[in-house]
Amino acid sequence: MEQTMQDYPLTVQHVLWRVEKLFCRKEIVTKREAGVHRYTYGDFAARVHQVAHMLERLGVRPGDRVGTLAWNNYRHLELYYAIPCMGAVLHTLNLRLFPEQLAFIIEDAGDTVLCVDASLIPVLNKIAGKIPTVKTIIVLNDGGDLPAHDLGETLDYESLLADEPTTYAWPTLDERAPAGVCYTSGTTGNPKGVVYSHRSQFLHTMSVLQKGCLNIGEEDVVLPVVPMFHANSWGLPYAVGMAGAKLVLPDRWMGDGATLIELCQSEDVTILAGVPTIWINLLRQIEQTGAQLPKVHTVVCGGSAIPPALMAGMEKQGLRMLHAWGMTETSPLGTVSIPRSWQPEEESLAIRLKQGPPIPGVELRIADLSTGAELPWDGVAFGEVQVRGPWIASGYHHNADPGKQTEDGWFKTGDVATIDPDGFVAIVDRTKDVIKSGGEWISTIELEGAIMAHPKVLEATVVGLAHPKWVERPVAFVVTKPEHAEATTPEEIRDFLTDKVARWWIPDEIRFIAEIPKTSAGKFDKKVLRVNAAPLVEAVAT
Ligand code: AMP
Repeated sequence: MEQTMQDYPLTVQHVLWRVEKLFCRKEIVTKREAGVHRYTYGDFAARVHQVAHMLERLGVRPGDRVGTLAWNNYRHLELYYAIPCMGAVLHTLNLRLFPEQLAFIIEDAGDTVLCVDASLIPVLNKIAGKIPTVKTIIVLNDGGDLPAHDLGETLDYESLLADEPTTYAWPTLDERAPAGVCYTSGTTGNPKGVVYSHRSQFLHTMSVLQKGCLNIGEEDVVLPVVPMFHANSWGLPYAVGMAGAKLVLPDRWMGDGATLIELCQSEDVTILAGVPTIWINLLRQIEQTGAQLPKVHTVVCGGSAIPPALMAGMEKQGLRMLHAWGMTETSPLGTVSIPRSWQPEEESLAIRLKQGPPIPGVELRIADLSTGAELPWDGVAFGEVQVRGPWIASGYHHNADPGKQTEDGWFKTGDVATIDPDGFVAIVDRTKDVIKSGGEWISTIELEGAIMAHPKVLEATVVGLAHPKWVERPVAFVVTKPEHAEATTPEEIRDFLTDKVARWWIPDEIRFIAEIPKTSAGKFDKKVLRVNAAPLVEAVAT
């Protein structure tokens, strides 16, 4: 017997179809220098058609790469839809990369057109003359003069769009054609390109919406604080369109707690999404001002482990955090921690602090760090997380770093975790961050969580530094809350830890610093800390 189903391609075009046929009246709101920009999904869809006409007129053809260097705003969203729907490839450029990395990824992807926010021209200008593949630069501008630059001729997005027709005949696409590319930077070497297909984006979107995942409905108002230039903004740009949820975009004010509070209140936001450092600052702002966000029912948090004190603090303010894990190579969502019906209520907080079980569509396992043997799901054995599924990378562009795939087709994440008998993953560390002291492992994530529970501590991160006897010992870099800057001592932090972690886990040194360096995604940048850290006092003494 042959199956009798239509061979309907799974593409981003379907998301656009839903947006324009079903949700025309829903709003997209973007923060602006003064006030907000507001229009409907109907207005948005018409402009998406215009963008496709405009790009075609400029020579963009199916398969061509179009780069975007932009914040979370409505023009960026238009490009998120128009580029893949016309068969071209959306390349979201991480604006916080070093200039030479930015030039590298533009050339590696072969971008021919770049669309850049006017406010980010200074970032692009640092690589003027070093991006030979780029033929056209289009500026996304709210009006006013552009910053000075040496980029040669630039075109204005709004002027280009003005006379374009609002209906574009979208081509029939192969669901396995590339839709987007995003580069991930490892600890060493050049960034590596992860190329998403239409099919992977479609299936990832379907999974993101589900009740066991981010549970986004038409009635929701979603504010992604996770950048659209990083890991597809966790899939939210397509998920909101598929669901028809109202979208609120913070543009370049993502790190500004006051702006986030104001947007939540004025636009009735129900779902927030971002990394822990964003919520640490927001919580502080809320505690200081007494602001309330009663409409917010979910604060999605991923990118790094949620410190227990942060989850508890948010909970106190009525803000329920939803812990998710993933990476650029996993589109990015891989796990989401929602307690099971059979798990006891009193364990709920501890369970939600884990990264959670794989979402529908994703399979994972853990492998012994030395032998590679598969480990049991007993909540004790820890090993490298390996993952497979329809939106998991099977390699990188130009075959970079082929060693990340196992011979039997699983992706090696570089994350170390336990999995409990219910399938809940608990990330212990990155393979490159875990500390091996005297032959025993120390989880920096757990240690950081314990330190951040100290009432005077705002942020903390732990790295291993060379030790003459133990090979490596932990050192904590701690930022105190400003009002406690003078009065906090290393002994106080170390004493605080004595009944919370094993004695030999307690950091040899506590170093107070003004700010922890952050990565492009707002995570603690241990690489920078490690490179710049003075050696352990004990290492110098011997
Ligand atoms: P990126 O590809 O830049 O998004 O980084 C992915 C990495 O971030 C993962 O491999 C993890 O090491 C880390 N990560 C993401 N989500 C979590 C989480 N919920 N808890 C701990 N680490 C996380």
